Amino acid sequence: MENIDAETEKKLCEKYCINIKYNSIEELCEKRNIELIKDAALSEYTTFAIGGKCDFLVKPDSFGSLRDVILYCRENDVKYYVLGKGSNVLVSDNGLKGVVIVLSSPFSKITESEDGIYCEAGASLTRLCTYAKDKELTGLEFAYGIPGTVGGALYMNAGAYGGEMKDVVVSCDYLDENLEIKTMYAEEMKLSYRHSIFCEKNYIILGVLFRLEKGDKAEITAKMSELMDKRRSKQPLEYPSAGSTFKRPEGDFAGRLIEVSGLKGFSCGGAQVSEKHSGFVVNKGGATCEDVKNVISAVKEKVYKDSGVMLECEVLILE
Ligand SMILES: Cc1cc2nc3c(=O)[nH]c(=O)nc-3n(C[C@H](O)[C@H](O)[C@H](O)COP(=O)(O)OP(=O)(O)OC[C@H]3O[C@@H](n4cnc5c(N)ncnc54)[C@H](O)[C@@H]3O)c2cc1C
Repeated sequence: MENIDAETEKKLCEKYCINIKYNSIEELCEKRNIELIKDAALSEYTTFAIGGKCDFLVKPDSFGSLRDVILYCRENDVKYYVLGKGSNVLVSDNGLKGVVIVLSSPFSKITESEDGIYCEAGASLTRLCTYAKDKELTGLEFAYGIPGTVGGALYMNAGAYGGEMKDVVVSCDYLDENLEIKTMYAEEMKLSYRHSIFCEKNYIILGVLFRLEKGDKAEITAKMSELMDKRRSKQPLEYPSAGSTFKRPEGDFAGRLIEVSGLKGFSCGGAQVSEKHSGFVVNKGGATCEDVKNVISAVKEKVYKDSGVMLECEVLILE
């Protein structure tokens, strides 16, 4: 394949799933036209604005290029991580060794068919919700304002204000451990509170099919802005965070328990239990991963001592 240009090589690889040996991730990305950033600061790719550097950050724009990056990593024993908008993760101050694969705008087509709305994993939830509203389809209003991608949202079974992904997902296409594209239906996804089968398996979500109902555009718009207003009034959106730090304990709220323990505003370094919403740990400026972890440990310990409830982290710690 030495005498063909990068674009032709890309098309051939995608059409025939050809495995080409590359000498380095740089060579692979150059030949396959994949955006690559060396020594990327992960603080720029997480909503917490925390995290050291990774060796390489790549942004595949198609199934074929994503598959090739993973294949390269596996064959060369390079560790890889998948990120969407990084809105539910806390990344180590030491960064991550290996390749961070960001599935974002280059991988974000949204299309409508008679089966429903199909959305590539890297599309933002906000864009998807706006698309659905413009098509006068109701069901996704709850997700408006959750700052993640569709892939990240299915992974976490994201939800808010009485709705969750489980209510609207029909199926998804994913890459299995053998790097084959498979389809899975919602019933098989083990969707429960902030959990899915994708938290258990090393699968990569490629695209999601949603089934929505015909609705009234004005009503959908009103619901979306009502929920957005609620977010703005209740959540500390003025500071970087990863949303709710802890899962909701059965029959209670993490924020309430934290307040009862007198930890509202408790801080370590630049990380603080938000004064506006105790369920959020926020980055007040210059917070490190260690600062956040220290706040989390102190909160868990005190809440357990005071209320007998062991809080479980919703935020995923990558180190
Ligand atoms: C201000 C704020 C408010 C929030 N409000 C809510 C809320 O109301 N409800 C809620 O549920 N969450 C909320 N969150 C948390 C977060 O936005 C959601 O969990 C979101 O779904 C995460 O999506 P992401 O693309 O950012 O995923 P990331 O944080 O990038 O990744 C999270 C996990 O998903 C995996 N992942 C991402 N994409 C894929 C893929 N394509 N295939 C396989 N695995 C993948 C990653 O490997 C990682 O393990 C909030 C966060 C913030 C900062």
